[in-house]
Amino acid sequence: MRALCWHGKGDIRCETVPDPGIEDPRDAIIKVSSCAICGSDLHLMDGYIPAMQKGDVLGHEFMGEVVEVGSGNKKLKVGDRVVVPFTICCGECEQCRRGNFSVCERSNRKPELAREAFGYPTAGLFGYSHLTGGYAGGQAEYVRVPFADFAPVKVPSGLSDDQLLFLTDIFPTGWQAAVNCDIQPEDRVAIWGCGPVGQFTIRSALMLGAKQVIAIDTVPERLAMARAGGAETIDFAEGGVIDQLMQKTAGRGPDKCIDAVGMESHATASFDAMLDKAKAAMMLGTDRPHVLREAIMACRPGGIVSIPGVYGGLLDKMPMGAAMQKGLTFRMGQTHVNRYIEDLLHRIEEGQIDPSFVITHRLSLEEGPEAYKTFRDKHDGCIKVVLTP
Ligand code: NAD
Ligand code: ZN
Ligand code: ZN
Repeated sequence: MRALCWHGKGDIRCETVPDPGIEDPRDAIIKVSSCAICGSDLHLMDGYIPAMQKGDVLGHEFMGEVVEVGSGNKKLKVGDRVVVPFTICCGECEQCRRGNFSVCERSNRKPELAREAFGYPTAGLFGYSHLTGGYAGGQAEYVRVPFADFAPVKVPSGLSDDQLLFLTDIFPTGWQAAVNCDIQPEDRVAIWGCGPVGQFTIRSALMLGAKQVIAIDTVPERLAMARAGGAETIDFAEGGVIDQLMQKTAGRGPDKCIDAVGMESHATASFDAMLDKAKAAMMLGTDRPHVLREAIMACRPGGIVSIPGVYGGLLDKMPMGAAMQKGLTFRMGQTHVNRYIEDLLHRIEEGQIDPSFVITHRLSLEEGPEAYKTFRDKHDGCIKVVLTP
């Protein structure tokens, strides 16, 4: 089959690889009808995530048709149309029973320990390094789904792939980011990053009843899409983000602050220059993590800092004194997709939201390497790319 494979920093190739097969009775094989590129994939492209191996198949946002099921899988049958959460989880351990699906006990920072304790398969993420199970991803014609009798959700034929695909990740991720803010009717919410995750976070915060949403980015098309979704916007390249947030919140600061950026992706030289200008213009200096520091400094005392943006490894230079004095609460993590997916599917069916609004580019799987670059460089107004095998 054809698949997008990682070959090193900035080196993504469309290649022929062996077809996946059933390895465990609970498995299913999905024929991918649509898949997407996520901001998290850019961290792989940037070489920020360790334990990738040359030839690893990428992709964790995909949906399609069941073409084969393992002997122990009582939930799915051949021909079912499913969306597949990006988090692979068993559905039966203590964490899964608590709804903490992205920290399924069968996943562990050391997959070999999880394997020792629970056997194979382990939990983890699709297409996201050998730290998270080493599973082949779904930017491919076919994908093997472990524990497929738990996480995949059957979807109605009346809705298109474009409307359903983002249930796999970015819609639940934006939703969880907003849920983690315990939004109250008077809340003013600031959201850093108007990428695909930020876009869903904006709409989720408003659906959950926020009084005001202020979104921060610098890419004109992304700021325009944020405004179309009901947010006020700040262009960080103009500097003074914290001052502007104070002005827009009657001098108090946002009650809730959401970092939907994470590790800053290296894009074009012109983008990096813009970022440097913005960093130089702010009081916090140029240390990373830039966005998280800004969120902590801007947040109103007693507020919540919610972090869907992905970080890896060690981070330093955090203004913990300010966080302590302000009594801030931090919430973060990979999304517990299965906690929200049925509710969000229902909201799509009811017409409360049509997630396809975020799609700006449609390309073939073969054009994947180009698509990664277009998405990373934010060329041509690119916000979200859907690939069709
Ligand atoms: P993206 O790279 O398309 O979007 C990031 C946006 O942040 C860009 O529009 C960029 O212009 C903007 N940005 C960069 N520096 C900024 C700054 N200083 N201030 C404000 N905005 C700034 O990525 P995405 O797909 O929207 O994903 C966003 C983050 O969410 C990534 O870190 C991704 O890994 C993470 N993510 C997490 C989960 C989860 O389960 N927690 C799931 C999906 C994605
Ligand atoms: Zn993702
Ligand atoms: Zn589990």
